Amino acid sequence: MAEINIKGEIISPGTVKGTLCFVNFKGDPPAYKDNLSHRDVSREISRFEEEADSVTNELIEAVRILKKDSLFEEAGIIKTHILMLEDAEFRKRVHEKIKVGRLAAEIAVEHVLREMVVVLENSENMLFAQRAADLKDIGMRLRKKLAKEDSAIFYELFKDAKDPVLAVKELLPSLVLEAKVRGVRAFIVERGTSFSHAAILAKSFGLPALRIENLYSLGARNNNKVLIDAMNGIMLIDPSEEDINDVAMLRQEAHSLGDKTQLPVKLWMNIVDPLQIKEEDLKDTEGIGLYRTECLFMENREDFPTEDEQFVIYLSLFEKCRDHQVTIRTLDIGGDKILPYFSFGPQENPYLGFRAHRIYRFHPEIFITQARAILRAGLEVSDLRILYPMIETVDDLWFMQGLLEKAMHSLKNEGIKYKEDFKQGILVEVPSAVWNLRELLNYIDFASLGTNDLFQYFFAVDRNNANVYSAYQPESPVALQMLRDIVDITKELNKPMSICGEIASDINFLPLLVGLGFDNLSIDFHAISAVRRRLLSLDASECRKLAQECLKTTRADRVKAILDEFNSFSQKAKVTHLMDDSESIDPICKMIVHAEGNKLMVVRGNKKYYFCCKYCRDRFIKNGT
Ligand code: PEP
Ligand code: MG
Repeated sequence: MAEINIKGEIISPGTVKGTLCFVNFKGDPPAYKDNLSHRDVSREISRFEEEADSVTNELIEAVRILKKDSLFEEAGIIKTHILMLEDAEFRKRVHEKIKVGRLAAEIAVEHVLREMVVVLENSENMLFAQRAADLKDIGMRLRKKLAKEDSAIFYELFKDAKDPVLAVKELLPSLVLEAKVRGVRAFIVERGTSFSHAAILAKSFGLPALRIENLYSLGARNNNKVLIDAMNGIMLIDPSEEDINDVAMLRQEAHSLGDKTQLPVKLWMNIVDPLQIKEEDLKDTEGIGLYRTECLFMENREDFPTEDEQFVIYLSLFEKCRDHQVTIRTLDIGGDKILPYFSFGPQENPYLGFRAHRIYRFHPEIFITQARAILRAGLEVSDLRILYPMIETVDDLWFMQGLLEKAMHSLKNEGIKYKEDFKQGILVEVPSAVWNLRELLNYIDFASLGTNDLFQYFFAVDRNNANVYSAYQPESPVALQMLRDIVDITKELNKPMSICGEIASDINFLPLLVGLGFDNLSIDFHAISAVRRRLLSLDASECRKLAQECLKTTRADRVKAILDEFNSFSQKAKVTHLMDDSESIDPICKMIVHAEGNKLMVVRGNKKYYFCCKYCRDRFIKNGT
């Protein structure tokens, strides 16, 4: 038996065996986030000082070499760069930004240089304008240095470990992206929820993550072998062979189960990167219900990806999905998804600040470039769907549609071919859009429900903050009423609606979604087999009764109790994802039974039911269930 067995909250499901690697604060990759702790602040200041000195020394060496080659003019330019870097006022301003704005060093540098650049660029004086270019150059050098140095330190901490399982305080999207390319297998964290964008990225890359209390009490276990069972919320330290064999979930699941026509809903896939999927993964799905394009922008460290860079990525996706429907969510940057090369300005509350189309009011070219790339690559796919995130009102929708028109006009004027027949939709994820839904649906072809943000804004609860997790209550009757109204409106107006938030992958919540009338679910690739199994075991009319019963209640607790009863085999349901096609669930006693070779079988419609004994089979026949 394992020496230690720790319970945790599942942030990203999956099972992995590996080596525990503590990544302490010193080694954390850059916190591209405006909430550094005091400890982080002094770390960032010394990181900045060290790197500013190191760049200065490199430049001094460059001046020496240039002078040796008699390139005195060039040496003179570099010397001015050294003077700027050594300037006490410049360094003081960066310190201030780190302290007051709680910014990571590279972001603080960017802010200060940007402010200086704006002043210089607005000057009539040519010499000053020249200075602005010098400043940008210094900024670039310094930022590169800060970013590279950090990721190297980060990697050093676990580069020799076999199958590293990182213990980090909190997941950040940038950390997940970095960890993915560095071969990390799983995460143990102390903060965060399964709705955060970092968790969504981890799920998409199949990287399990567990949240445990007192993470740092495990410090002494650094480099120990661990088994992360983020299917059942357990972490085992020093697992025995027996433990490992016992964990049937280590078995890779075959993700295609049954035929899509047997399911009460249509399934779609959420992806964050076209590389995640192969053509055959789309079999038995309608296609891509949500491609979160932000990853492409976050992986670039220097600047926004160009139209051609984006075109190549979108094309790679469309080529895999030619005959399927593909929904591309246009860039939804902001909130916890920030970019090292874009300053979001002061943001007290990033989720209520600069995000998605709010940025395009200042920088329409970001969207227009993306739209041009999508439309050009879109010629390769039969059914292209463009999805606008964070739409609050009809004005916002029109604004986005106006920008799309501009993108099409520019392509037309340049004689470039593009996809002209495509669908447009909105992500319903802000309460005002729900109240506006009838009106909004007039101008679009489809809608998708972003429950991650919708519940965040509906309940005013930060989706990333585990301390307020209990206030995030999709089971609340008031939330269910909102979901029911959304379904009713879309059905009445005959517009397709799907759910693409994380709730669609929650196998315990699925009966309610089916019962409320949702018939399209878009879920993470890794959740498909579990969701499919659960759906196969659901009866749509039972689900409708369940939803009616829940809608009549007034409290979330009551809904949870009703749901628990309905999912009375929830523990077993958790295990159902482990079953292969040779197994099934007895619909009467909820036992997992053999399907293969089991003669106790009843066929209803196009579904087969298997039983453990005659008693269950006869009750099933008698009840007519
Ligand atoms: C959502 O908010 O539910 C959604 C699908 O978008 P994201 O999680 O990327 O914000
Ligand atoms: Mg969202």
